[in-house]
Amino acid sequence: MSSVLNFNAGPAPLPPSVLAEAQGELLDYHGQGMSILEMSHRVPEYEAINARAEANFKRLLGVGDGYRVVFMQGGASGQFATVPMNFLKPGSTAEYLVTGTWGEKAVEDAELIGNAHVAASTKAEGYRRVPTSGEIKLGEGPSAYVHLTSNETIQGVQYRDFPDVGDRPLVGDMSSDILSRPIDASKFSMIYAGAQKNLGPAGVTVVLIRESWLETANKKLPAMLRYSTHVKNNSLYNTPPTFSVYLLDLFLTWIDTEGGLLEISARNDRKAAIIYDAIDRSGGFYRGHAEAGSRSKMNATFNLPSADLEKKFVAEAKAEGMVGLAGHRSVGGARASLYNAIGVDACQVLANFMGHFMAKNG
Ligand SMILES: *Cc1c(COP(=O)(O)O)cnc(C)c1O
Repeated sequence: MSSVLNFNAGPAPLPPSVLAEAQGELLDYHGQGMSILEMSHRVPEYEAINARAEANFKRLLGVGDGYRVVFMQGGASGQFATVPMNFLKPGSTAEYLVTGTWGEKAVEDAELIGNAHVAASTKAEGYRRVPTSGEIKLGEGPSAYVHLTSNETIQGVQYRDFPDVGDRPLVGDMSSDILSRPIDASKFSMIYAGAQKNLGPAGVTVVLIRESWLETANKKLPAMLRYSTHVKNNSLYNTPPTFSVYLLDLFLTWIDTEGGLLEISARNDRKAAIIYDAIDRSGGFYRGHAEAGSRSKMNATFNLPSADLEKKFVAEAKAEGMVGLAGHRSVGGARASLYNAIGVDACQVLANFMGHFMAKNG
């Protein structure tokens, strides 16, 4: 069990009980006489893990028939290219709502594949909020899809409600807030997420896709790049990242044993409130990056009065056992990532530290 409070932006903490369970069955998985790490992905034991993870993910997200889930590799970054390769066809435009660094990267890849259009961007103000519905300018012609980033991990900007895009397929990069709260997933034709922030370890990317949309995908792509290949083969077309899927499965089961998504979501609300209260009660010593209505409950981004104090804050927090609090190297400042496996108590410890640090340095 980790002896530090880990506020890393990803990879991120796993529930101690999940790590202990994996440790307990690491050498001999369910009496098979070998580790899950050594097992074929074509045996019933692994197929059961794979099928259970798919079913539990769909149930927790609240979708049923008409959607499929596949476990892919290449990270969420791989999806930036795979989405347009499959769905951005000549004569249509992919619309991107850009609220931070990850959305920028997604649109850059789409531009290499076809016609991509930034339908809204809050870059001019330094990515402090999501766009209002009036600011979203979707093109006139046929749109291939509308892509958004539900939570921008680096800037700490999150949608509360998702924009209405009519009958255009909506695609969401939910890498840093997947299954952190209930959402209406039926608004989306695709949701993808690297698992290493809210759901498990690095190495597996979860992709939810509406089957009727999948039927429209480009068929002239190499097998590994077609979503249909992975769907048809139940994520077992080639060797999957078996250990990562196994840990993902344990993580999803953990969500249920903790009381389900509503309980996790309520905890996440409390955790974010504790940290933002510490920011808001600091009289301007801590300054939140995002505007109040777009504040991320997963990544609280903030600044201190100077870069020197920010450095000192991160170093002293580390000395007290709180790690991962530096802002992303591209933006600086401080960032506390409050993903699913971080406890309310850890946030309280951090908020207390913030108070003491301000008293000494304010
Ligand atoms: C971390 C992150 C990514 C990149 O994920 P990789 O798995 O490292 O490719 C993409 N989008 C968002 C929103 C992220 O938080």
